[in-house]
Amino acid sequence: MKFNIFSVNRYESYLKKYDDDQLTGAKSLHYFMEHYEESLKQFGKSQSLSIFYSSLVNLHNSIKLKNASIGYYDDQLAKADEIRVHVLSQIDQACRDNWLKIYYQPLIDIQNMKLAECEALSRWIDPRYGFLSPDKFIPALEANREVYKVDCHVLEGYGQDAEFLREKGKEIFPISFNISRTDLEACNIYQKIEDTVARYGLSRDQVHIEITESALNDSSQAMVEAVQHFHDLGYQVWMDDFGSGYSSLNVLKDYHFDVIKIDMVFLRKFDDRSKTIVRNICRMAKELGIRTVCEGVETQEQFDFLKEAGCNLAQGSLFSPPVPLDELYKKMAPYL
Ligand code: C2E
Ligand code: CA
Ligand code: CA
Repeated sequence: MKFNIFSVNRYESYLKKYDDDQLTGAKSLHYFMEHYEESLKQFGKSQSLSIFYSSLVNLHNSIKLKNASIGYYDDQLAKADEIRVHVLSQIDQACRDNWLKIYYQPLIDIQNMKLAECEALSRWIDPRYGFLSPDKFIPALEANREVYKVDCHVLEGYGQDAEFLREKGKEIFPISFNISRTDLEACNIYQKIEDTVARYGLSRDQVHIEITESALNDSSQAMVEAVQHFHDLGYQVWMDDFGSGYSSLNVLKDYHFDVIKIDMVFLRKFDDRSKTIVRNICRMAKELGIRTVCEGVETQEQFDFLKEAGCNLAQGSLFSPPVPLDELYKKMAPYL
């Protein structure tokens, strides 16, 4: 993008003034603050801020790569930037025209080996850019406080799938779906969930709400109340990515969760230390009356270990990656 090239050139000339200094985030931020007004004039108010923000992030990335090559920046990161701007300007159309698809990833009950439920995850199939995974659109929409549009669309998609399955006389599995911290501020997410559940004749115990550990980090009163509010309405609240942040235990003390999802980092490094940690998380959760899911289960060995550790549910590519509804039923035939 023109603006990125402009930024990089200007940034380079700016750095010349500081030849022997270390590159620091503070310095690049300073640069952008100095030129913010200028960019507003050049690019107009509406898109400036998001482009500006993306450029800053990207510039940091290129610095992390030791400023290795502007070419890399132009080709790869400018493309990512372009997609980000596209996503921000097309989110409403993506919902309206169903570019946003709902994929399901099964959670298998470890004791009886049956499909217990699915996590609903979104994919953006774009007419111009093709298949986009969540990392291409969720962070940009989160930064813009618009990710609630995706989350509501996912729930709506589940409602439609439930209706379709009901008509075919098939049983519908419950789901857990992801909400962001910004959903709580950007819209009345409670009402939106309630409306969708009612419209499709779902019951509240078919829809579980996943909130990531990082969203809960500061244990703010507002989040504690949000979790309570979901509970009062009759929804389960699940803690996502348990153990990935710095204050998991603290969060567990302040919030009441129905389920914790143990982050897949513990299975990635599948050594004795990780196993001891997972075993004890499962034991602690059990004593607290909380069920456990382990994410990222890729091998039979990991699954066998989780069974022995007393974990309740397993999610991962050993069973299936996230897939569209029709594929899910084919893959899940042995687990129904
Ligand atoms: P998450 O909620 O932690 O979702 C689990 C991610 O792990 C998914 O990535 C899934 O594809 C991946 N995964 C599952 N099993 C395995 C495995 O065995 N091995 C490996 N390596 N990966 C596995 P995905 O679908 O790309 O989603 C990434 C993140 O994007 C999600 O992480 C979630 O935080 C966010 N996200 C996805 N869809 C939505 C959405 O509709 N709304 C919101 N707010 N966030 C979403
Ligand atoms: Ca999740
Ligand atoms: Ca997770």
